[in-house]
Amino acid sequence: MRLFYWVAGVGIAVGAALAVWSAPPRPPATAAATAAKLSAADYTAHAAKLAKSLPDGFTILIEKPFVIAADGDAAQREQGQKTVRWTVDHLRKDFFTKDPDHILDIFLFKDKDSYEKNTKDLYHQSPDTPYGFATTSALYMNLSTGGGTLVHEIVHPYIAANFPECPTWFNEGLASLFEQSMDKNGHIVGLTNWRLEPLQKTLRGEGPKEEGRAPTFKTLCSMDAATFYGPTRIPNYGTARYLLYYLQENDVLIPFYKDFLKSQKDDPTGYETLKKTLAGIGENDMDAFRLKWEKWVLALKYP
Ligand SMILES: [Zn+2]
Repeated sequence: MRLFYWVAGVGIAVGAALAVWSAPPRPPATAAATAAKLSAADYTAHAAKLAKSLPDGFTILIEKPFVIAADGDAAQREQGQKTVRWTVDHLRKDFFTKDPDHILDIFLFKDKDSYEKNTKDLYHQSPDTPYGFATTSALYMNLSTGGGTLVHEIVHPYIAANFPECPTWFNEGLASLFEQSMDKNGHIVGLTNWRLEPLQKTLRGEGPKEEGRAPTFKTLCSMDAATFYGPTRIPNYGTARYLLYYLQENDVLIPFYKDFLKSQKDDPTGYETLKKTLAGIGENDMDAFRLKWEKWVLALKYP
């Protein structure tokens, strides 16, 4: 049972109501993770300031460590807030011990028009994607396209807080793994998704020429951001996502992440940790593993 308490607008500007989420008590492990330096008063002040900056029709919801501004109806708002809470709780459980050290806004725009108009008018951002995007201070989502991008974008501030030196391949691999995810025995698990087909095409040599071939794991791991997000980004995302999906399906994703975090000074790209993790499940030859992985990916199905 979840309860909303609506606080009638003390200091809140026209049209933007402030709702305070009454959170059920968190289990002790996650309570420790929530112990950021930010107080309830910090959140209230932040929410009030945000409310003042928004046009009519937005509702502000405090969902720590985020503040949500949404202009959809009650059902859409609740769905959005539930997705944020579900994602944060599941990510904390298996991956992250620290919350972001600053309050991030999540804008949940009800449809394409609201998303395009408001990102432009209010935040001077021109989205190059119909789904949503993030900056270091806010996540901008077109909620009418579903919650997948929201989950994806929530991973990034958590990586920034917990693994500041994280290489792009792992940051985007994990975020894109969970953009299509579900709960399995209380844990978040990624599922196959739309990134599968372009990767399969590339692996079969049928992808667009300008995208090139799927990178080797060694190349992928050592890519800087400019290369990862460059012309070959589609096979880069696909390779990163389905490499992590393979680790997840073999129950070694979480151990890999924890080992990588511990050994990042000696292994900044994660490749040596990847080799070690794979050796632990009997994959001692990276060339042989690559062939096996490609065959496995080509046999995957979506939907
Ligand atoms: Zn991303």
